[in-house]
Amino acid sequence: MVLYRVLLNVNVLLTVSVSVAAVLGDYLITICNSPLGKALCDNITHALIGGLAWTICYLNRAKTLEESDQRHGALEVLACTFLSSVIDLDHFIAARSTLLKNATALMQRPFLHCSTTPLVLFLVLLLVSQTWKVPAFKQGALIGLTAFATHHIRDAARRGLWLYPFGSTAPIPYWLYIALCALVPYVVIFLDKSLKQQQRVMTNDGYSHVV
Ligand SMILES: [Zn+2]
Repeated sequence: MVLYRVLLNVNVLLTVSVSVAAVLGDYLITICNSPLGKALCDNITHALIGGLAWTICYLNRAKTLEESDQRHGALEVLACTFLSSVIDLDHFIAARSTLLKNATALMQRPFLHCSTTPLVLFLVLLLVSQTWKVPAFKQGALIGLTAFATHHIRDAARRGLWLYPFGSTAPIPYWLYIALCALVPYVVIFLDKSLKQQQRVMTNDGYSHVV
């Protein structure tokens, strides 16, 4: 009961931190004068939101805070933080240039900013994980989903979501981007629980039915 209360408080604190990181990061971008400063602020904000979102996922996955393998959790948080940040490298790859002014002057959005890409990748990794019984692939899929979802939702406040081949949505309202970023870890936790439940039923019933 005490641990449940601690976890609830930690969840509230981290969820508020996701929103604060987003709003503060966006504010710093507006007051930053140099393009390099703006780009750095933008990227660090993506990284922070991704890292905090996976911290929520990790803490809720661990049965109790004592049992949690902290080093493993820290590596996962670092992986999500890193991935949330490196997604923007596709600007440089698409521009075939290391110069910021070329990377930010693209006529089209680069490939890692297409939201269909992580969705397909997520499903492929899940399929591989289920077929060859490699839990690390499922974990990687969930970390990737968290990083891409938070990054794409944040970018969507400016440019909408690009869902190839269906086209792009209009930019989403600012409040919706903040709310969705805070919601992402809980959707991932729900997905993780549902997948575990499905796995348990399949193991018990010899793949006779799926929940
Ligand atoms: Zn981006």
